[in-house]
Amino acid sequence: MRILVVEDDPDLNRQMVTALTEAGYAVDSATDGEDGHFLGDTEPYDLVVLDIGLPIMDGISVLEQWRRDGRTMPVLILTARDRWSDKVQGIDAGADDYVAKPFHMEEVLARIRALVRRAAGHASNEIECGPVRLDVRSGRVSVNGNPVKLTSHEFKVLEYLMHHRDRVVSRTELTEHLYDQDFDRDSNTIEVFVGRLRKKVSNDLIETVRGLGYRIVTPSDAV
Ligand code: CA
Repeated sequence: MRILVVEDDPDLNRQMVTALTEAGYAVDSATDGEDGHFLGDTEPYDLVVLDIGLPIMDGISVLEQWRRDGRTMPVLILTARDRWSDKVQGIDAGADDYVAKPFHMEEVLARIRALVRRAAGHASNEIECGPVRLDVRSGRVSVNGNPVKLTSHEFKVLEYLMHHRDRVVSRTELTEHLYDQDFDRDSNTIEVFVGRLRKKVSNDLIETVRGLGYRIVTPSDAV
């Protein structure tokens, strides 16, 4: 999952990028509204954390413009504690949730997990697919109740595919959603991860749809 952080306070920006990276997300960041707007407009993010008070272009305008242009990614806004009007304006402009400053990073992380899973149509942190169970929060995967050890990249690939299990996911899409802007992207590595997932998790879980990408095979398909 790939996240954009738009926050002009350099310390807070850095803290958020670090915390999100440690939590396993690919993260890009911007420190003003114009850069933030551009990135959100041109890169496919699974979620954006957007400060309201930003230089050059304020967060509300950034959000309004994205929504006008049909960008539907979940947006979590950061508001000042005492500015209730920011929250109302932000939600009316198309924000999905807000956190008031100062906040605990754990709260931000929990809200992000909730927004990402809701955007993919899941109500809980655990996604099940036949015998395979993936816990987004703990990063654990099990097959028939037996834990499987995955590297963080293997986990990210499986998580993304399971989140979007109702459709075919292309290699390009996986690459774009799993790596940040600066990452040296090579879509062949995705193939390697999928191969390892088949070995470690289940041989029948991930189907290759020739020329299109990968798809999670749900038990109902397999019958
Ligand atoms: Ca600010």
